[in-house]
Amino acid sequence: MAATDVTSELAASVRGPLIGPDDPAYEEARKVYNGMIDRRPMAIVRCADAADVMATVSFAREEGLDLSVRGGGHSVPGFGTNEGGIVIDLSAMRGVRVDPQGRTARAEGGCTWADFDHATHVFGLATTGGIISTTGVGGLTLGGGIGYLTRGHGLSCDNLISADVVTADGQLLTASEDSNADLFWALRGGGGNFGVATSLEFRLHPVSTVYGGPILYPVDRAGDVMRFYREFIASAPEELGAFFAFQIAPPLPFIPEDRHGETMCLIVSCWTGPVEDGEAALAPLFDAAPVVASHVGPMPYPALNSAFDALLPKGLQHYWKANFVKEISDDAIAAHLEHGPAVPCVESTMHAYPINGAAQRVGNEDTAFPYRDANFACVIAGMWPDPADNERNVAWVRDYSDALQPHSEAGGYINFMADDDQGRIRDNYRQNYNRLAEIKRRYDPGNVFHVNQNIAPAPA
Ligand SMILES: Cc1cc2nc3c(=O)[nH]c(=O)nc-3n(C[C@H](O)[C@H](O)[C@H](O)COP(=O)(O)OP(=O)(O)OC[C@H]3O[C@@H](n4cnc5c(N)ncnc54)[C@H](O)[C@@H]3O)c2cc1C
Repeated sequence: MAATDVTSELAASVRGPLIGPDDPAYEEARKVYNGMIDRRPMAIVRCADAADVMATVSFAREEGLDLSVRGGGHSVPGFGTNEGGIVIDLSAMRGVRVDPQGRTARAEGGCTWADFDHATHVFGLATTGGIISTTGVGGLTLGGGIGYLTRGHGLSCDNLISADVVTADGQLLTASEDSNADLFWALRGGGGNFGVATSLEFRLHPVSTVYGGPILYPVDRAGDVMRFYREFIASAPEELGAFFAFQIAPPLPFIPEDRHGETMCLIVSCWTGPVEDGEAALAPLFDAAPVVASHVGPMPYPALNSAFDALLPKGLQHYWKANFVKEISDDAIAAHLEHGPAVPCVESTMHAYPINGAAQRVGNEDTAFPYRDANFACVIAGMWPDPADNERNVAWVRDYSDALQPHSEAGGYINFMADDDQGRIRDNYRQNYNRLAEIKRRYDPGNVFHVNQNIAPAPA
């Protein structure tokens, strides 16, 4: 039977468009952010509302088809699509309703952080999102959510108040502390395993004009900068978010022209305390090593949150590896110094994000996010434009990751994992894995939601 015959009944029951291979919109609709992913689903359903999501989940389950759920489409392994199955594309569900008095916001499941920041900033409010504003609120939050505000306000999932979720049986549930509490626990770190979040309700914080931006140092001083950074960020005020990175200097006006294309190390910071205190808060960073260039100052939070978007357009090749780290030891720094300065292209990078502060006031077993005792989440993010360079870039990521492994925890952050990392799922969830598998059995015994960093349902 042709795909169109199979899906025609579904097409008739949803309000959003069902895009099949014969549709002129198909080629664009099947693309995800990672240009390496080239899959051809049977149909992409651009859901208009929760009812569309419910119908599509039930259809895929009944037909035994692979089902992908796409929010922002940023999954590096390309979980937002599949070969021959159904895609729930939430990109038409982008509304955000802000309650400025109650300091909450409810975002539909397809929102990006740009959508969210835009809606909340007008009220001088924000919550923890990622570093790039084109990333989806749904995927990022369900995996945990690390960003500039993590030290001050916790992970994105720590700010989740409730979620409306379409589960594998096609029903819509609300998950919160008071309603389906086990599901709510699992959603906060368990990724897309438990259902489709059609909307997510967040706590907001007074974050408006921040003081921050990047400070670049010569790469031959990276050891000094890393040693400074690990001490500084351990006790810096929680209003300061700041991550360390290796990066080739892009041709930006604030970087001296003769240094463009030179490999650097940098610290990117975001001070959310009183803006007039920002300069003093960042002052120690200027003494870490000689500064090649900096671009710090007061700016609207959404401006910092989208500052690097242009460097990373949709369609680059992506291959990433990640580890949680308790301490950046001298031996770990030696491994960084061997591989970080070899970053192969201007888009690629290694980021060490701090996950201390407010994120550590939540216990390891309070949510599904299991590494509250780690102080850093490190990601080696290989991103490059030309598929001809795949081998070289993948090798850089793998070699760097192998070198860090002895100095890292067994698990890493699921949102930074590659498609060859499914063997690490137990390590990624460590003490929380068995409980997650139990909850998976309760809500998705047939593993309908398996196109993700998959938690297999516990045996009955
Ligand atoms: C350029 C870039 C920058 C990033 N920066 C950060 C960062 O600063 N901090 C950070 O924590 N992470 C970051 N990430 C990682 C990011 O959190 C993950 O890639 C995340 O899964 C992306 O979510 P998405 O909705 O955009 O992706 P998608 O590919 O749409 O989805 C990813 C996964 O989440 C599931 N999912 C998405 N939406 C929903 C929903 N509404 N309901 C149920 N399941 C859903 C999908 O099924 C899939 O398994 C970044 C990724 C990229 C590519």
